Amino acid sequence: MTEQRGFDAIFVGGGVIGLSAAWQAARGGARVAVLDRAEPPAGATRVAAGMLAPVGELAFGEPELLEMTLASAALYPQFVAALEAASGESTGYTYQGALHIALDRDEAAELRRVHDLQRSLGLAAEWLPPRRCRELEPGLTPSFNGGVHAPGEAAVDPRALTRALLAALAEAGAEVRSATEVVAGIFAGERLAGVRTAAGEELRAESTVLAMGAWSGRAEWLPEHARPAVRPVKGQIVELRSRDGEPPCERIIASERVYLVPRPDGRLIVGATSEEQGFDTAVTAGGVHELLREAYRLLPDVAEMELVDSLAGLRPGTPDNLPLIGPGAIEGLVLATGHYRNGILLAPLTADAIAAVLAGEQLPEALAPAHPARLSFVTQRVTKDRGALGDPGPEPGAAEASDRASELAARGAALAEAAEAAERAGRARDED
Ligand SMILES: Cc1cc2nc3c(=O)[nH]c(=O)nc-3n(C[C@H](O)[C@H](O)[C@H](O)COP(=O)(O)OP(=O)(O)OC[C@H]3O[C@@H](n4cnc5c(N)ncnc54)[C@H](O)[C@@H]3O)c2cc1C
Repeated sequence: MTEQRGFDAIFVGGGVIGLSAAWQAARGGARVAVLDRAEPPAGATRVAAGMLAPVGELAFGEPELLEMTLASAALYPQFVAALEAASGESTGYTYQGALHIALDRDEAAELRRVHDLQRSLGLAAEWLPPRRCRELEPGLTPSFNGGVHAPGEAAVDPRALTRALLAALAEAGAEVRSATEVVAGIFAGERLAGVRTAAGEELRAESTVLAMGAWSGRAEWLPEHARPAVRPVKGQIVELRSRDGEPPCERIIASERVYLVPRPDGRLIVGATSEEQGFDTAVTAGGVHELLREAYRLLPDVAEMELVDSLAGLRPGTPDNLPLIGPGAIEGLVLATGHYRNGILLAPLTADAIAAVLAGEQLPEALAPAHPARLSFVTQRVTKDRGALGDPGPEPGAAEASDRASELAARGAALAEAAEAAERAGRARDED
């Protein structure tokens, strides 16, 4: 039987992004529904380590991403406080800092280069000799070449965060449905007016938010030109548990190849591989072997821990590693996807942005580079629609998109310059 329901916004996908954005919109008074084909926590959110680590995630050539991750990390304390108050559930948020370890001379040279970049950008990160690192984390391997302490890094438990979001959404009167797959769009002319589920139910809304994570590029319920350029990037993790209930380290510990995230309940998350394997979510012997070997090289005590679980998930990757947040290629469609390796961290900022877009406002400044107009599918649409309609005039929004692209290029240039200067300084020192 077909039922017709009306909402301000329907969120397709109940991962951390769909749930956070829906909660933010619901808090602002919007009538929202979240539909997920599985039972949240699912998707990448169920597998994620939950690091909130803008300093550790810093990479050369990604200045806009740094601006976003810093802005979202700054929102986290108030986001979890409000969420925990609204839901009565803990999110497992811990503000414990991180220690990045160089296990040999080559890794030390690389880590120093990254540290130069961190310092040039004014980030809180200090180079420490091995003795000082061991004072912070006595369980570290006896032999290594130093490390970078980033005291501001934090972590959250993504499954606990999901439970809190589900409770807060229920409290706010939102409708969240699991086992509800979206299979078709409902169109009013060119405009997306809602969705049809696999059970044949029709739900109508002013806006439909695509928050399907790695599956967003495969949203067959959208016309092909409106499907964003999102691809799956596989990641495997291993979950260990200490047998005395105490995690073997206090803070996040990372090397070039692995990171270890302690949970307050004594678990340790060891992550993560990064593999371009399409939609494959098999946990492999090779993946687990690599994670455990590298974890042991950092923290030998992991050998005594209980192996609790191993999981694989799909990060939603984009061509430029930036998320896609804002109006989609057809009217009525909003994108909240492509968060790649930082979706947990970027959830509060994304939630604010989506709530703003749904209320007809601009994206927050830090998220301007995430505007979907930067990628070619909008340009393709402009060309395609003009051709079809025989209309040579400017497409509404096209000039704005192009202005925004120039503005973003200019804003990115300053940070990119700082990154290059730091890289040059590192090279010069290595050559000396
Ligand atoms: C191993 C690993 C470690 C990670 N570690 C971190 C970390 O430490 N910190 C961090 O910030 N990020 C981390 N990430 C990245 C983070 O997990 C993702 O960026 C984030 O979870 C993306 O959230 P999402 O809501 O967009 O997608 P997802 O969590 O994948 O959710 C998408 C949802 O859409 C649903 N769906 C799909 N198709 C349909 C349909 N047709 N109808 C209805 N529902 C549908 C799925 O069931 C799923 O629940 C990690 C990722 C992996 C894989």
